[in-house]
Amino acid sequence: MKELIDFKEKIDKDKLEEVCKSIKDGSVIVFPTETVYGIGANALDKSAVKKIFMAKNRPTDNPLIVHISNYDMLDKVVSNVSKYEKILMDKFWPGPLTIILPKKEEIPNIVTCNLDTVGVRMPSNKIAINIIEKSGVPIAAPSANISGKPSGTLVTDIVDELKDRVDYIIDGGISDIGLESTVVKLDNDVVNILRPGAITKEDILSTGLNVVLDKHLFKDVKENEKVASPGMKHRHYAPKVKTILVYSNDEKKEYDRICDIINENNNKKISILGFNENKEKYINKPNVKFMCIGSKHDLNSVAKNVFTVLRKVDKYDLDLSIIEGVEKQGIGLAIMNRLTRACGYNVIEL
Ligand code: AMP
Ligand code: MG
Repeated sequence: MKELIDFKEKIDKDKLEEVCKSIKDGSVIVFPTETVYGIGANALDKSAVKKIFMAKNRPTDNPLIVHISNYDMLDKVVSNVSKYEKILMDKFWPGPLTIILPKKEEIPNIVTCNLDTVGVRMPSNKIAINIIEKSGVPIAAPSANISGKPSGTLVTDIVDELKDRVDYIIDGGISDIGLESTVVKLDNDVVNILRPGAITKEDILSTGLNVVLDKHLFKDVKENEKVASPGMKHRHYAPKVKTILVYSNDEKKEYDRICDIINENNNKKISILGFNENKEKYINKPNVKFMCIGSKHDLNSVAKNVFTVLRKVDKYDLDLSIIEGVEKQGIGLAIMNRLTRACGYNVIEL
C-alpha cells in the first residue's frame, strides 16, 4: 500500500487528485460507499480489474459490480435500459441498488466473467461519487474483503487483510448501511431480487412494479445447479467456528431453544450474537460470551454492526456460536440472508 488516506472529516482535494490519477494508471484502491467498502479499479482496464480478483482471491466466475457517477457513464457501459429499469433508477439512484443490464463491448469480459450482462450501481456516498467523477471512468468494485470473509464496513477491520494487496486505502468512517447493495434483474415489469439489501422488497413494491425473491436467497445451491447470480454459489461471511442461527417470532420460544443448545453444550465455549435488549438474559451464563449485534427495535443498527461482529467471533477461542435472528421483513430480509449464509444454512426457525 502506498498510503492510508483519511477522508473521514473532509476530502483533501490534492489527495483526491492523486488517487484518481492513479486509478487511471491502473491502481487498485479500497474506498468507502454507503453499503460497504469496495476494492475498486478502472472497469475499462482489463489488467487493473485482474488485480481486484487477485487482491480478493475472488473466484473468477463471480462478476463485479460497475459503479458510475452519472447517466453519461451509464450509456457507456450498458446497451439498453427499459422503462421499468428507469423507474428504479429514478427512485433509488444514487443509492444501494444494483441493476443487472445488458453490457456494452467496452466493458471487458473479465468484469462480468463472460456474461453478456453487467451489474451497475450509482452510489450515494460522497467520497465514492467524487472518486468516480474525478477519475472519469466507471469503477468496478466488489466488497472489500478476502473472498469468503464478511464484507468490510470499517477500515480497522480490513486494513491488515488488504494493506499489502492494494495501492491506496481511503478511510471514510463506518459504512452507513453496513450490508451490500440490493441486486435486481428485471423481466419486463417483474423485479427479481437476486440479493436483498437496504432497498427492500417493500420499497420496490411501492413503485408499482412486481417483485419476486430468487429461490436461492435462503437455500444452499447444489452442485451444477443453475443460478441467476454467480455470487449465490460461493461461501460467504462465515466465522471459522460452528455457527447456528435461531429465530422465532415468539421470543420465549426462541430463548428457550437457545438455552437448550447452551445446556446441551455446557462443556463448550459459546458466543451468543444477540440483541442489546437480551444481554441480561445471557451474561451470567458461565460458558457464554455475549456479543451485541444491535437493537431489536432498530434493524438498521443490526445491519450496520453485523459484519464487524461476525469478524470478531474468530478473535475469541470458541467452540460454538449462536446468532439471534430477525423477522424477514424490510431490511430484516437482507440481514437474515447474510446470517443464513454465515451459518452455512445451519438455521433453526421455530
Ligand atoms: P460483491 O461485488 O461482492 O458485492 O458481489 C456482487 C454480487 O453481484 C455477486 O453476488 C455477483 O454474483 C452479482 N452480480 C454481479 N454481476 C452480475 C450479473 N451480470 N448477473 C448476475 N449477478 C451479478
Ligand atoms: Mg462480496
